[in-house]
Amino acid sequence: MREFTYKIRLIIAIIIFVSIISSGVFLFLNPQVLHNLPIFKIGLISVVTILLAALLFGRIGCSLVCPFGIFQEIVSLFFDRQNEKRPNWIGKYIILLLFFIVSGIFAVKYKKITDLNIPFMCLVFTFSLFVITGVLSAFKDRIFCTHICPCGTLVGLLSKISLFKLTIDKEKCVCCGICERSCPSCSVESLEESIDNETCVKCLKCMSNCPKGAIGISFLRSRK
Ligand code: SF4
Ligand code: SF4
Ligand code: SF4
Repeated sequence: MREFTYKIRLIIAIIIFVSIISSGVFLFLNPQVLHNLPIFKIGLISVVTILLAALLFGRIGCSLVCPFGIFQEIVSLFFDRQNEKRPNWIGKYIILLLFFIVSGIFAVKYKKITDLNIPFMCLVFTFSLFVITGVLSAFKDRIFCTHICPCGTLVGLLSKISLFKLTIDKEKCVCCGICERSCPSCSVESLEESIDNETCVKCLKCMSNCPKGAIGISFLRSRK
């Protein structure tokens, strides 16, 4: 059942990935559609949805919706790696702060730059991010998500207080380390039988791989 849940999550993620990429290509080829869309409203609704989802399920969007996250997961299928717990990197909070400052400046000046080619800028931005995340994840799984992405850092902070968390049942766990080695975001400390829900991207790989069925989703409870 746990393996089935993981596979269903992966299939849904790939379907969403293909849909987003197709929509992006469509919008690039038909920029007049983009100009007619209520971008601000869509952006606002997306942000609120992401934050609410984070408060409920943590970084579920990182493994289900974000095309860069799903792309990294696809890239990592070509590499057989043994991961180990990665320390929480403080620099990501500085990147988040810089992101807010730059976004604020951009928002203030927005009206003055309406002559910019937005579809072209989106294409360059998206392509660059695919290259960066793809290359980085070829070396270390999800390193962009755990160390750089400001969106992931923000959602990670909310994940700390999310209602649903992944936890390890200490009664069942035999500290074999399989979950730790298979975790793409290096969020599991198998000897301590704990999962760092701030960096966990909810891919459910650990849950699927655990031979003892010790990993599950807990509501308002942490077995850390
Ligand atoms: S951390 Fe950022 S890039 Fe990674 S999956 Fe989440 S939102 Fe996407
Ligand atoms: S795979 Fe399961 S049994 Fe092994 S360390 Fe992880 S939680 Fe414990
Ligand atoms: S702890 Fe489990 S669900 Fe979270 S990122 Fe690691 S393998 Fe995926």
